[in-house]
Amino acid sequence: MAVRFLRFGYRSSYTDGSAWASQFRSDWETTRPCPRCGSTRQRPTGPATCIIEAGLRWTDAIGTSGGSPPFIVSKRVVEGLQAIGAQGYMSYPVAIERISAPALSARGAPKYYYIAPVSSVEVDLPASGSPPGARCPRCLAAQVDPPPREQRWVPKTETWDGADIFGLGWFPFGYFCTERVMQLARDGTWTNFRFDPIDILERHIPRWSGIDYLGRQWPPEWYPDSPSRGKSFGEWVALTRLSGDAAVPYAIELHELESASHVTPELIEEVSEMYARSAAEALLDYPEEAQGAMVIQLREGAPLERRNAAYVLSRLRQEHRIPLPDDVRELIRQNTPDFVESLIE
Ligand SMILES: [Zn+2]
Repeated sequence: MAVRFLRFGYRSSYTDGSAWASQFRSDWETTRPCPRCGSTRQRPTGPATCIIEAGLRWTDAIGTSGGSPPFIVSKRVVEGLQAIGAQGYMSYPVAIERISAPALSARGAPKYYYIAPVSSVEVDLPASGSPPGARCPRCLAAQVDPPPREQRWVPKTETWDGADIFGLGWFPFGYFCTERVMQLARDGTWTNFRFDPIDILERHIPRWSGIDYLGRQWPPEWYPDSPSRGKSFGEWVALTRLSGDAAVPYAIELHELESASHVTPELIEEVSEMYARSAAEALLDYPEEAQGAMVIQLREGAPLERRNAAYVLSRLRQEHRIPLPDDVRELIRQNTPDFVESLIE
């Protein structure tokens, strides 16, 4: 059976009571230059410190407020990894300098560490949706400005060295692991971790909370549902055309109104926009067909239909880099309230 690779990190911040850190500090080192393009990168090394900002309980993963590394892990995580002989990473202690959360006390605090992957796997850039020449194929450093936004990261599994923890590219960035590590997290009920399939579509990530590694169902669902599930292409397109009378039943249902006489033009506009936005996410699964339908709608539709088509085309442009002819760009400009150029860059 093929080895299953996952990406991992912390699941949530203090909003659910998990501990939350900030002001992570450590020494930094410069990596060896990439043999292909000569780029280097700075990365944390050696013992570190942080403060605990908030939280109601100590968790096995703690986010670091967007720091680098993005999370720290408890001693039992490091011990668990050692116990299964996991390779491919370094770990360094993180001393907690201050605790600002009244519910947490230093006496009950586990020891924490951060981990830094040293093994790495190369990325299949074309399969990841990276435009040709946009990244160094060895270290993944961006060769263009702004850097490309890949749809997913597809590993070249033949470059895997057998490590249970690894990053991507020469430097190695990100946190990836084998299924063995997730099994360890399940067996040890590690708290506040998140695991996703390594090649998950980036746009699907906000739509779920990761693999339910502690759940009763095992094996778990490995991927989130696609946003287009549940309706046909034609039904999704129809949802971008809610305007006028067609939108009235939706407005009544959404706002639980007593009759159509309560539906105002503002409500129609709001309902139309809301459904178009969820339809846009679904239509990203059908880029060519959606582009064709939306260009026609942008040219020939009623005002709200044109506004919605402009929105869907902007999303298609952002996700799939679909080419937009000049006249279509101009129509998007005219039909997008608060238009900014970055929508269709
Ligand atoms: Zn490079």
